[in-house]
Amino acid sequence: QSTQHQNHDFIFRSKLPDIYIPTHLPLHAYIFQNISQFNHRPCLINAATGECFTYAHVQLTARRVAAGLNKLGIQHGDVILLLLRNCPQFVFAFLGSSLCGATITTANPFYTPAEVAKQAAASNAKLIITQASYVDKVKDFASENDVRVMCVDGAPEGYLHFSELTEANEKDIPGVKISPDDVVALPYSSGTTGIPKGVMLTHKGMVTSVAQQVDGENPNVYMRSEDVVLSVLPLFHIYALNSVLLCSLRVGATVLIMPEFDIVKLIELVEKHRVSVAAFVPPIVLAIAKCRDLQRYDLSSIRMIICGAAPVGEELENCMRAKLPNAIFGQGYGMTEALAISFCLSFAKEAVEMKSGSSGSVVRNAEIKIVHPHSGASLRRNKPGEICIRGNQIMKGYLNDEEATKNTIDEEGWLHTGDIGYMDDDDELFIVDRLKELIKYKGFQVAPADMKDEVAGEVPVAFVVRSKGSNISEQEIKQYISNQVVFYKRISKVFFVGSIPKSASGKILRREIMARL
Ligand code: ATP
Ligand code: MG
Repeated sequence: QSTQHQNHDFIFRSKLPDIYIPTHLPLHAYIFQNISQFNHRPCLINAATGECFTYAHVQLTARRVAAGLNKLGIQHGDVILLLLRNCPQFVFAFLGSSLCGATITTANPFYTPAEVAKQAAASNAKLIITQASYVDKVKDFASENDVRVMCVDGAPEGYLHFSELTEANEKDIPGVKISPDDVVALPYSSGTTGIPKGVMLTHKGMVTSVAQQVDGENPNVYMRSEDVVLSVLPLFHIYALNSVLLCSLRVGATVLIMPEFDIVKLIELVEKHRVSVAAFVPPIVLAIAKCRDLQRYDLSSIRMIICGAAPVGEELENCMRAKLPNAIFGQGYGMTEALAISFCLSFAKEAVEMKSGSSGSVVRNAEIKIVHPHSGASLRRNKPGEICIRGNQIMKGYLNDEEATKNTIDEEGWLHTGDIGYMDDDDELFIVDRLKELIKYKGFQVAPADMKDEVAGEVPVAFVVRSKGSNISEQEIKQYISNQVVFYKRISKVFFVGSIPKSASGKILRREIMARL
């Protein structure tokens, strides 16, 4: 469906009808709204230890954590920093903090001490919850700034232990009045194109996003209480937190928590726990596609594989479909600032087939428009431009950065994603590139970068990884490109490299490539 409004905007919506979304509820209340239907079912399984926690247990623990946080002096609006690998305590802390009206900011455990300190200072964290192996990363900052540190495992002397929270009395849970616009989560964007930014996500926004994915008679992403959902992606990133953890809890599914990625362990766990839903990023999909031992395992339980965070090639998509024919393979597209933007409709209860390479249809109760990157004019179908998204799910803004917020969310409430894409005739969104990285040559393993040039300002250059056995020359590559593009896109120089630097989620780190020039 697309409608042209009086102001000549082409607006695209989901094929699925809008649904009622209880945006007045705090996130934890919404997440546990239907818990009586699955109280005694498994909620979390810790893959590292085999421990299993029921829904009733998780809810009770979250209440105790809220009471314990309150006892430590954490109040409505305070920020708690989590520096954790995936573990059940991450979930307890997140829900307990929500119950207190506090905000969780999540940091990458691979960060250096300086990076963690920066985030802790910027977010004004009152408490850091971490694990013994990362205490060294935070101890200097914490002692200099009078911030308390708590460990979820064996705490070194002088540090708090998570049991102080879980052993509190749930009756002491604080009575706070949470507003739908209160910030419940403060994740940081990945920092692919600049410095990571603190993104204020509200109760209302996260409730809306989860509902857009898994609620309704015909949910866009059909997950059920019988599902076992693999959580191997880091919960500190919004993709896993929102689309894996919170969506699973809402429907009463079991979340299998893996602390780190290991291809063999992953397929063993899928077989052992009969995993039915998995959320991946392209590098994991690639690892599965390449895995020689796949045939030795019974992976027939997987019925849905979601791939997101970075582009995945059509070839790889098709390879996965051939290797795991029982599973529906499709993409989700989102960003920290806007949560889930589009999702493959093959995941819906009433599945709609989608094309290879498509990143799905816009989620329901939301609107997409595609605008010309320079003029801002709204574009029709099949015309690539900047993807803009509007709806209750988008962020409240960047923390302490009004200007960046204004540059991202315009006066009409459109959030400008910085991604280039187009909507095709079947309401499928295709992502072409990122706005800041407009030059790209498909088909090769080529990552272009701009190079300063005295005459032209910037010229395209190519970083090329030769495939095994290939001895293709710089001249041949230049010729190949020249045959297909207008003169100004021709490559002026080719650098042969061993690999293209990518982030863990599969995003090309062009800043690193630029630095090599
Ligand atoms: P930063 O904004 O700090 O530079 P980042 O944009 O990589 O980093 P995230 O919010 O983690 O931080 O990632 C969102 C981005 O990931 C999107 O804007 C888009 O470029 C990319 N992305 C997400 N899903 C997909 C997908 N299915 N296909 C292609 N790209 C995707
Ligand atoms: Mg971004």
